[in-house]
Amino acid sequence: MAVIIDGKAVSDRIKSEIALENKKLMDDIGVMPGLAVIIVGNDSASKIYVSNKIKACEKVGFYSEKIQLSEKISQKELVARIEELNNRVDIDGILVQLPLPKHISEKVVLGKIDPRKDVDCFSPFNVGRITINDYRFLPCTPAGVMELLKETGVELAGKNCVVIGRSNIVGKPMAMMLINESATVTVCHSKTVNLPEITSKADILISAVGKPKFVTADMVKDGAIVIDVGINHDENGKLCGDVDFNAVEPKAGYITPVPGGVGPMTIAMLMKNTIMAAKANAILNVKSAGKTKAAKSKSDK
Ligand code: NAD
Repeated sequence: MAVIIDGKAVSDRIKSEIALENKKLMDDIGVMPGLAVIIVGNDSASKIYVSNKIKACEKVGFYSEKIQLSEKISQKELVARIEELNNRVDIDGILVQLPLPKHISEKVVLGKIDPRKDVDCFSPFNVGRITINDYRFLPCTPAGVMELLKETGVELAGKNCVVIGRSNIVGKPMAMMLINESATVTVCHSKTVNLPEITSKADILISAVGKPKFVTADMVKDGAIVIDVGINHDENGKLCGDVDFNAVEPKAGYITPVPGGVGPMTIAMLMKNTIMAAKANAILNVKSAGKTKAAKSKSDK
């Protein structure tokens, strides 16, 4: 029987800590973190994700702004909206809910977010910083996984970790973050040959594929930590992950459920990135106000 890692409880604890930190930030320097969430079009799943993010902001006491844009918006107009937000002092974090309509390049749009406000950590600049283990933000879902791994108390250094999935938002940064913790990491993907042979050697198995019941018991080593990032629906329309939970749970040492595992952690990490951004931006704003004052007094002479 595996220990179930309760992502909801960990996420609630982190959000409570952030709420306290936020109160202190307001009391000490009068700064209220602000998050802008852009949603383009009417994708129903995206709408639910965005509304959960806005609710989380309310819960921890942040200012938030939902910017609903038409599916027909041009890339140029969307970039202009991002640039406006880049220049607003009351906005510390900018998030563009993915996916975007086909006529808009995610790469171009994400690249336009000021790296200091890139709380999703999808911009090339911030992704590059993870690679050199010198980062400001971490992408929310893999950062949430790292927090859940921390909960197990298991030392990551030297562990054999297998990540299934190589997407830019989950699989690749996940692998990088595990390497930064000195784990030995194998990344598997759709072209991997003999997947079960590789996964069954993993001390820590992380699945980010997007297919229900993809990870079966024969793919899992006895006592392994199994982290399920997948969000899928089973044949009855019920929310489920990638892991065949009932079959894998008796074999694993630790396992995350879906729902209630990685999902709630993603939002908690977004709140964490937003308050970090607010603190850094507050220092920057004070510095630039000082410079403006200095420049003004020089020109007055
Ligand atoms: P993606 O579609 O971009 O990537 C899926 C990956 O799975 C690809 O790299 C692909 O190579 C790999 N894959 C596909 N078939 C495979 C196979 N047969 N064998 C091995 N690898 C295979 O998806 P993503 O954005 O990385 O998301 C993955 C899953 O995680 C989805 O279910 C998504 O909904 C979920 N997700 C959850 C959260 C969260 O907050 N919990 C956040 C992001 C994504």
